[in-house]
Amino acid sequence: MTRRQSLATLALLTAVLTIAPDVPLASWRAQPAATAAQTALPKVRLIATGGTISNRAGGRLTADELVASMRGVDRYARAEAEQFANTSSAALTLEQWLALARRINTLFAEDPDLAGIVVTSGTDTLEETAYFLNLTVRSDKPVVVVGSMRNPSTLGYEGAANLLEGFRVAAEPQSRGKGVLVVLNDEINAAREVTKTDALRLQTFQTRGYGILG
Ligand code: ASP
Repeated sequence: MTRRQSLATLALLTAVLTIAPDVPLASWRAQPAATAAQTALPKVRLIATGGTISNRAGGRLTADELVASMRGVDRYARAEAEQFANTSSAALTLEQWLALARRINTLFAEDPDLAGIVVTSGTDTLEETAYFLNLTVRSDKPVVVVGSMRNPSTLGYEGAANLLEGFRVAAEPQSRGKGVLVVLNDEINAAREVTKTDALRLQTFQTRGYGILG
């Protein structure tokens, strides 16, 4: 580097430092990087209703335990959790479906900071619950319904992975305006079209005729 280039570099650095915001250096240092990054992450709320995904032998997983099972979720979202029910999906009543839709609409209306919602459900009537929410949720923010085929006490339980994927989809701005989404087995399906096709296989949720969204 010539002396002339060094001087130019020095002048540029001085200019950059001069136009930097008027914040004392100490307070810049006091800000832990992880906290700043976390606040920038989208807020996603789990509403847990039960199903195989939480049906652990000896006691069902709670909403908080489901969130705790997702290792690495803090890379994608600030996760919150609430327990709506903890039952098999077929036991959810029509009143509970209505209450769930109202709860989701209220959360989106009252918390502009909320990026998306994940609903866990048993798989037996997951497609019906998701379709009902598709008709009744009044927001273009993502609502993602997630379940699992294996329970938490089974070798090969895929619930935590499905849930993490559900959180990633709910945190993603590209998921907006696509209706309610169903995420299981590494696939994103539209609630309007998806069907459970098999009682055992992990790839049971299919959108025959149209295919997956992602
Ligand atoms: N019986 C369960 C339910 O629908 C099945 C499941 O979650 O996969 O709640």
